[in-house]
Amino acid sequence: MISKLPNTGTTIFTVMSALANEHNAVNLSQGFPDFPVDKNLIDLCYNASLNGYNQYAPMPGLPTLRNGISDCINSIYGKNIDPDKEITVTSGATEALFAAISVIVNKNDEVIIFDPSYDSYEPAVILAGGVPVRIPLTFPEYKIDWEKVFERVNKKTKLIILNSPNNPAGSVIDENDIFNLTKLISGNDMYILSDEVYEHIVFDGVKHYSMLIDDELYKKSFIVSSFGKTFHITGWKVGYCTAPENLTSELRKIHQYLTFSTSTPFQWALSEYIKDIDKIKNLKHFYESKRDFFLSLIKNTKFKPLKCSGTYFQLLDYSDITDENDFEFAKRLTIEYKVASIPVSVFYENKTDNKVLRFCFAKQKETIEKAVEMLSKLR
Ligand code: GLN
Repeated sequence: MISKLPNTGTTIFTVMSALANEHNAVNLSQGFPDFPVDKNLIDLCYNASLNGYNQYAPMPGLPTLRNGISDCINSIYGKNIDPDKEITVTSGATEALFAAISVIVNKNDEVIIFDPSYDSYEPAVILAGGVPVRIPLTFPEYKIDWEKVFERVNKKTKLIILNSPNNPAGSVIDENDIFNLTKLISGNDMYILSDEVYEHIVFDGVKHYSMLIDDELYKKSFIVSSFGKTFHITGWKVGYCTAPENLTSELRKIHQYLTFSTSTPFQWALSEYIKDIDKIKNLKHFYESKRDFFLSLIKNTKFKPLKCSGTYFQLLDYSDITDENDFEFAKRLTIEYKVASIPVSVFYENKTDNKVLRFCFAKQKETIEKAVEMLSKLR
C-alpha cells in the first residue's frame, strides 16, 4: 500500500468524539465550546451573505479584515504590523501551520517539536520531507528543557515549533524561555513557528509572551492565530498567520494553491466583530471563571488537577483511581461513566503515559456539572 504517512492514524479528536457520540457521553474530549455563538456575529455573517458577499475573497484575505487584525495586534501587543504585507487570512490555524511548515522545511531538515505536541505538526513536517526531533517538556510543569534543546540543535535544524499557551498541557512560556529562544535564534540559521491560537486565554494574571513582542524574534517567526478559539466558532475555520514580509510572501505562494482563499461571508462578519477589542481582552476572564468552576467541582472527586495557566483544557491526574493506561481509561470513562476526555500519551512520540487526561472546560455550567457528577462516581 502506498502511504506518505504510514504511522499516522485517525486523529484522537475524531476517535474520542465518535466514541462520545456512540455512547451518549458528555463530550469534554475534542476542544470546542458547547454554548451559543453571539447572535450579533451570526447576524453579521447572515447579512454579508444576503448582501451578496458570496464569491471568492481576495487570496490573502479581505483587506478590511486584515486591517482589523492589524489594529487588534496594535492594541494588544503594541506592535505595528502591515496588513498588506504581513497578515494572511487562512482556513483555520491548521492551514497556516501546514503552509508555514511547507515554506521552511526541505528534505532532511530537522524540526524541533515539544512533547506533548498538538497532533498536526509532525505530519506536515514529514510531508515536507523533514525530520521531526521531539523533545519532551518537563513533567508535571510542562516546561521547555533548554539544555536538551541546545544539545539537539545542529546545522540541519531549520525550525522550532512553539505552542504557548500549550495544548494539551495548559502551560505557558515565560521570560526565561524568551531569553533562551533569543539565544537559540541568534546563534543558528533557523525559524520559529509560534502556534498562539490560545493567545487570549491566559489565567491568574500570567502574561502571554507572543513572538510579536520581541522585534528580533518576530523577524524569524510565523505566528498562527485562530478566530475559532477567540470567538467560539471552531467550525467556521478562520485563522490567520502574521509574519514578516519576506516570510509572508512565501507563505502566500503556498496558501494560494492550498485553499486560495477563505470563506467570504465569515471574513466580512469577522472584520466588523473584531473591532470590539474589549471582548477579546475579556476572554481570559470568561474562561478563567469556567476553569475555576470546573476545579471547584473536581475537588470532590479522586482526580488531581495539574496547573493550568492557559487554553480551555484542564489536565487531571487519575493515578489514585487506577493503573490503567490513559487510552484504556479514557475509553472506559466514556463507555461506562459517560464522560469523554483525551488521553495525553497520544501527543508523545514514545506514548509516555503520565496517567493524565485532558478535559475541555469550554462548556456551559450544566455540561460541566453533569460531567463532574459522573466523574465523582469513581472512587
Ligand atoms: N484543537 C482541538 C483540540 O485540541 C481539536 C481540533 C480537531 O479536532 N482537529 O481538541
